[in-house]
Amino acid sequence: MIVKTEAIVLKSMRFRDTSKIVTFYSRRYGKIKGIAKGARDITSKFGGALEPLSLVSVVLYRKEQRQIQLISQCDLIHRYRDIHSNISKMAVGLGILELLQRATHDEEENAALFNLVKGVLQTLERADRNPINILRAFQLRLGTIFGYGVQLECCFKCARVFESAPPGKPAFFVPARGGAICEKCVQGEHLDNPGVKISVGGLLSMQQLLVAALQSVPLVTISEQEGNEIDESLRLYVQQHFDGIRSLRSLEMLQEMNIH
Ligand SMILES: [Zn+2]
Repeated sequence: MIVKTEAIVLKSMRFRDTSKIVTFYSRRYGKIKGIAKGARDITSKFGGALEPLSLVSVVLYRKEQRQIQLISQCDLIHRYRDIHSNISKMAVGLGILELLQRATHDEEENAALFNLVKGVLQTLERADRNPINILRAFQLRLGTIFGYGVQLECCFKCARVFESAPPGKPAFFVPARGGAICEKCVQGEHLDNPGVKISVGGLLSMQQLLVAALQSVPLVTISEQEGNEIDESLRLYVQQHFDGIRSLRSLEMLQEMNIH
């Protein structure tokens, strides 16, 4: 069956002498792999449309049960130039793709997730500050789409809202319990799964990353200390909910380069 879908190129690998195997995240089929024959010829009809971090329209000969489909055509819709030309945006963009690639299964349609990815890449391209916020927001929103949403505005035990507490006051983020617990309640509470210590200010910033309109996410100002607390919390969050994801290579790269 010949099918056409909008997709984001996640990964592109050389295959044999002239071909490529490309992994897409597509609107109609979720994550899908295909072979582009002759894609490495200079005169290839695919041009630059098979590079990661491109939005494309792809035509596939699709057979069910087949792991690698045949790509008959792939046209570039948008290249996200401003992501490719900025090293910190690029690291964030690759982090988003890496997480998407590892958190999803082959050929599972998820329109909400496709729209989220398209939205975060567009936001990343336009962002003039704090690109790392977009990766943080993506992790939280990806979790929500998969049914692991967290509640961050109040303690899951006593329901007291964190907003009324001083920003420096410590609390604990416990992803296995779907949210955060205040300093008072954590004493005497038996937690099967450990949490991450995070300040009230860090929690409230994380809440903003979760609920703000996407285009406002880069505008959320987060101190370095709160940023570290949030990254630590998100590492545990992703690790607990997405099997096998211990850390994102691109996130480690960002931290090594000390880019925020
Ligand atoms: Zn409490």
